[in-house]
Order: sequence, then structure tokens, then C-alpha cells
Amino acid sequence: MPDERVLFAHAVRQMARPDKMNCIHCHGEMKRSKAPFHVDRNGYHLVLDTVPAWVCHQCGEAYFEEREVDAIQSVIKGLDQQTRQLVTDP
Ligand SMILES: [Zn+2]
Repeated sequence: MPDERVLFAHAVRQMARPDKMNCIHCHGEMKRSKAPFHVDRNGYHLVLDTVPAWVCHQCGEAYFEEREVDAIQSVIKGLDQQTRQLVTDP
């Protein structure tokens, strides 16, 4: 099972100061921007090209806010259900 928990570990769940934040990896300044999101599921791959995110200008790390994480999770949930008939284990 591809691990969406790893991906969502990058998500910012609580934004103490949503107008400014620093990267937890390099402490670089982060700016509101867009970042690609991709996930490998059983039998399909989902790529979203330009998800609103905080992006570190030093190392490029991207963090998604709760609103975007929730939206992505509901897309994945729907796709899991809708692809169940179409993709099967080899
Ligand atoms: Zn960084």
C-alpha cells in the first residue's frame, strides 16, 4: 500500500502564523506559491500540477495547508472507490 501518511506528514496541520513561516528543514523563508502533488496508489497514480502551498525558497520543500490536504484526501478517497472496478492486483 503506497503510503499517503508519508506525504501528508509534510502537511502543515496547524498554522500559528499563516502570513509567515520558515522551513523545518533549512529554516529558509517560505512563501505562498504552488507545488505539484503526486501520490502512487494501488493501480493508479495521481498528479496535481499546481496545488496552493508554502514553498521554501532555499530548498524547495513544499507544505500544504489543511484545506488543501483535506481536498486532496477527498479526491483520493473518491478515486479509490471509483477505480476499484477498473484496477486489480496483478
Ligand atoms: Zn527549506
